[in-house]
Amino acid sequence: MKMKIEEVAQAVSGELTVPVAASELVTSVDFDSRKLTTGALFVPLTGTHDGHQYLANAIEKGAVAALWSEDHRDTAPADFPVIIVPNPLAALQTLARYYLTKINPKVIAVTGSNGKTTTKDLIASICKTRFNVTKTQGNYNNEIGVPITVLSMDSSTEVLVVEMGMDRPGQLTMLSQLTTPDIAVITMIGEAHIEFFKTRARIADAKMEITSGLRPDSWLIYKGDEPLLQKRASALPFPQKTFGESDVNDLYVTESQTDDQKTVFTTNAWPKLPFTVQLPGRYNVNNALAALAVGDALAIPAPAMQQGLEAAIFTKNRTEWLLGDQGEKILSDVYNSNPTAVRAVLQAFAASQPQGKRIVVLGDMLELGDAAPQLHAKLAEVLDPNQFNSVFLLGTEMQALKTALADKYQLGNNLFYYDGNQQPQLLQELRQHLTSKDEVLLKGSHGMHLEIVLQGLLGEK
Ligand code: ATP
Ligand code: MG
Repeated sequence: MKMKIEEVAQAVSGELTVPVAASELVTSVDFDSRKLTTGALFVPLTGTHDGHQYLANAIEKGAVAALWSEDHRDTAPADFPVIIVPNPLAALQTLARYYLTKINPKVIAVTGSNGKTTTKDLIASICKTRFNVTKTQGNYNNEIGVPITVLSMDSSTEVLVVEMGMDRPGQLTMLSQLTTPDIAVITMIGEAHIEFFKTRARIADAKMEITSGLRPDSWLIYKGDEPLLQKRASALPFPQKTFGESDVNDLYVTESQTDDQKTVFTTNAWPKLPFTVQLPGRYNVNNALAALAVGDALAIPAPAMQQGLEAAIFTKNRTEWLLGDQGEKILSDVYNSNPTAVRAVLQAFAASQPQGKRIVVLGDMLELGDAAPQLHAKLAEVLDPNQFNSVFLLGTEMQALKTALADKYQLGNNLFYYDGNQQPQLLQELRQHLTSKDEVLLKGSHGMHLEIVLQGLLGEK
């Protein structure tokens, strides 16, 4: 991006404290003083720490100006341009809105309980075959990440693909109204955040908020197999497309195959054209169908979409195959977990072809509230000893699954249980149990720190 400092001050209706040369430009926007680069506008945010105290670090890293809270006026520096505003976060959002209107790309917003980041990467890759594209980096999907994503566009951006996460009602309303999407995508409804929302219906209501910033001719694209979405969407006036497994959808899968590297599938819309995604897991067919529906709404020809899907580059730190230091293959997915995602990744893992055992390591699925014991126990339905030879469980909630598995697996033989802080013990016994011919799945909520087990298996610790 390129914006004059004075223009920034005007856009956020702020007060510039020190006169600046009219030619002084802001070339990026960042709230993290450690990562920020030369030319940045520093945005001090208040979380566990107050960002205002890091101004010196930001200046050292090359910041050329900063937003500054009215409440901190008395500590505003005398010799560095700061723009005083009532609330730096709100000003960041206002600045993003201003910049978005100025560059005016087509905006594609992606939400859903699972698959947002993957779908965002697939959409971006399809769009890249025809347009200049900017997409969300990493998982920057909240009220801070979305404006930062908008402000990361360069002026040639024609399509902006934005991931939008939510854990409270109202969040997606704000993000949708900030970005006024041309296309809104809902990948699926799962149980993530059910502790707060209590029911899947309320989760669906909150996801539908993504439509609140749509214009009358904007597209709504969603998983049509989900009755909760279908019911809500059918009451809305926007043009719509559905995708999914069954023929109730406009776009559905007709055949699919998945191995430990890739997923290949065909659709009703282009029956002769097989599509490939370089990811394991049949659930990625859904993510790819969502991306194809978007490409189609943008009139991108199917052969170009085929190339785009196959060439997609994925955000790191998701489901990936790695090689352990004993030669074992590891399917690592230690970033988040919930019942739908566990089932999906178990299905992907079951499709692998180890010479030895398939070993499943599961950490607690957090934030499931009162339903937690039941949702953990229910995973016993999909843990078949003929498919998964051994199961290692970590965390208090997994006790319910341990009990439910008692008649299928034998504790101490092929069923192992550890308290939530016993990652080192788990690692040690897993290593004893493991041979180079085996394959290991690691899946748990981030708070269960299965990355400790992962690092151990990789020989990094
Ligand atoms: P987050 O909420 O952490 O941002 P996300 O919605 O961006 O997650 P991804 O990062 O794309 O989701 O995928 C995370 C995990 O969710 C995957 O590794 C996989 O286990 C599961 N997953 C992805 N897509 C689907 C899907 N369509 N249906 C069910 N599970 C899925
Ligand atoms: Mg994500």
